[in-house]
Amino acid sequence: MRIVFMGPPGAGKGTQAKIICSDVGIPQISTGEILRHAMESGSDLGKEAKSYVESGGLVPDAVVIGIVKERIQEPDCVKGYLLDGFPRTLDQADALKRMTEELGKPLDVALNLAVPQDELVKRLLDRAQKEGRPDDTEPVIKSRLKTYEEQTLPLVDYYKKEGILKEVDGLGSMEDITARIKSALGI
Ligand code: ADP
Repeated sequence: MRIVFMGPPGAGKGTQAKIICSDVGIPQISTGEILRHAMESGSDLGKEAKSYVESGGLVPDAVVIGIVKERIQEPDCVKGYLLDGFPRTLDQADALKRMTEELGKPLDVALNLAVPQDELVKRLLDRAQKEGRPDDTEPVIKSRLKTYEEQTLPLVDYYKKEGILKEVDGLGSMEDITARIKSALGI
């Protein structure tokens, strides 16, 4: 199963993605995690990504598209994959559509985890205290939410038009949300 997992920052995507991936037996491909690792290791990719990630903006499309294109062709993706945090722009979505069609393996589902804005700020600030992620400070959080609304939210409509959108309510206990996601995926 090839899944795109969407939702605003702080929606709990990462946590749910891990559960779903281990249940279905597919890899979780998180562009955010790939970029954070690159930044920690100080690689060229990390150096390029740093200023964008730290300001709450988006890394250029060409960079993330290149990462995903290589990653989905790795052997562990034959049974499918879950993309977490990609695509984030319409150009990324178009590129993904093209590459999956070229590979003869189109996407099966785009899942949107919906959470209201005020709840997101609360959760992100809470996470900032617990995990200390460098982009979890209040100004950067606000900027990430704005980036999301402007650039990523239009993807919900995009996938609705593609006919593969499934919407899931992201408010509730972790277990409830997992159950909703599983039922939306039919697993
Ligand atoms: P969150 O889900 O909390 O927004 P992520 O871990 O998905 O965080 O991403 C962290 C940061 O990495 C983003 O704010 C952005 O700067 C960068 N990033 C991740 N994925 C992409 C992408 N697909 N396109 C551009 N930038 C990205």
